[in-house]
Amino acid sequence: MIGTMMDIDLTIGSILLHADRVHGAREIVSRQPDRGIVRSTYSDLLARARQLCNALLDLGISPGDRVGTLATNSLRHLEVYFAVPAMGAIINTVNPRLFPEQIEFIINHAQDKILLVDPKFVPLVQQIRGALKTVKHVIVMDADAGGDPALLPYEQLVASASDAYDFPAIPERSGSALCYTSGTTGAPKGVLYSHRSIVLQALVISGIDWFAVRRRDSLLPVVPMYHVNAWTLPFAAAMNGSKLVLPGSALDPRSLFELISQEEVTLAAGVPTIWSDLMQYMEMEGKRVDSLERVIVGGTAPTPAMIKALDEKYGIQTCHGWGMTETSAGGLFNAPHDWEHLDKDERRVMLGKQGRTPYPFSIRIVDAAGLEAPWDGRTFGSLQIRGPSVTDSYFNGSAPPIEAAADGWLPTGDIAVIDPAGYVEIVDREKDVIKSGGEWISSITLENIASSHPDVAEAAVIGIPDPRWDERPLLVVVPRAGRRPVPADLIAYFTGKCAKWWIPELAVLVDSIPRQGTGKVSKAQLREDYAKAGVE
Ligand code: ADP
Repeated sequence: MIGTMMDIDLTIGSILLHADRVHGAREIVSRQPDRGIVRSTYSDLLARARQLCNALLDLGISPGDRVGTLATNSLRHLEVYFAVPAMGAIINTVNPRLFPEQIEFIINHAQDKILLVDPKFVPLVQQIRGALKTVKHVIVMDADAGGDPALLPYEQLVASASDAYDFPAIPERSGSALCYTSGTTGAPKGVLYSHRSIVLQALVISGIDWFAVRRRDSLLPVVPMYHVNAWTLPFAAAMNGSKLVLPGSALDPRSLFELISQEEVTLAAGVPTIWSDLMQYMEMEGKRVDSLERVIVGGTAPTPAMIKALDEKYGIQTCHGWGMTETSAGGLFNAPHDWEHLDKDERRVMLGKQGRTPYPFSIRIVDAAGLEAPWDGRTFGSLQIRGPSVTDSYFNGSAPPIEAAADGWLPTGDIAVIDPAGYVEIVDREKDVIKSGGEWISSITLENIASSHPDVAEAAVIGIPDPRWDERPLLVVVPRAGRRPVPADLIAYFTGKCAKWWIPELAVLVDSIPRQGTGKVSKAQLREDYAKAGVE
């Protein structure tokens, strides 16, 4: 027997209709390509999205078609972000910081029919245009298309289209947004989110014990919309009526500082380097951002030193999140909950963990034989996850079927321990953990220790081949400006802070650490650099 309740699909269009009715006048603020600031509202967003739907229909877009973007977080990109799924098509947010060959691969694999690009990415598109097999039109998201007849101007298309358009009824399990992994492990893999999975994810992260996305918040997603849908935050903001602040392409600390101050941002989200760069800028300039209450940090773990500096120097609370492209952003969240009994230092140690999993996700750790490992805070295991916003396959066979256990769990590739209260700590990635003498050394633990050294700005630890132990850890350090620590002193600093046999024998100083397109440290690159070149 089915229930008596209304049968209403959970769709992205319905989030925008809700935003218009319930908090239509709430502001959306965005930096434009010329760095100027533009102000809009959720009601304007709906009207513009309707115009864009009509413009895209005229260009031949039908339900299920893929529409690609190469764009930063801006108002026009947000219009595309809502309009394309609302009309039943699929938005493919492509990361412009990937290598051109990867971008070409993704657009061809997704079979994007139209590409919408920021003006600054036009040269990139021109470079690969000849190899794009399915793209019929390229639209430049600006006032004009720079006079190139092969490009269509966004503003003119939208302005000349009618805003009379009713979003069609869409079954909630239909695809809505397509993101590719950054391809650190082979070719990029596509994950096709459904309307339902995005709505559920946005509801989950809004929860008070998770990221608490509130109406009173002025929310700045620095995390790009092409990086796992900006962790679903734009959808959560529209649901809850938060003021939404979009940084455009000005992600340097000074521009972010200005935007946060002017728009009184209370909640911001991005990878750890964004916040360490911002703190460094504020320290040098003697400035503060008093409005900023919380930063959501994820993609890679924030160091304890960073959590402490944010808290003690600036009164900013870290909300820590863990997720993957495959899990629609978040699967683990950590913000101070029931920690009244803990002192400040103990709370910060807890915050370094990736957190607990909210309903309707489930997690477990398993040993090499696939048997579930205990939640005792000590036993390492491979982390697996399941839930209605976790993918169970890759788009159009972009990777072999996920080798999930028969009972349907996604292997995350991460190694974790879980404590009895359900707090998960990611100990390493399976491919980064250092295998030494038949045992595992956590590179993350060593990086956290090194980062707490006063002369260290940034640290990465990789395994390098060792004839006796298979692998030994190598510490790679970017010193703080004006400091030149002696490698032997950096190594001595580990004494008493971890098991003796975990301590690296070698440390090297470098100017910068290589990063992937999403801003994460490229350990594969480091391993290649040091495995071949050796260490002097
Ligand atoms: P890719 O796998 O290509 O890097 P993702 O952005 O999907 O692309 O990365 C997911 C991975 O990022 C996770 O499996 C995990 O290893 C890492 N990660 C994400 N958030 C955190 C975090 N808070 N702490 C530690 N690792 C994290």
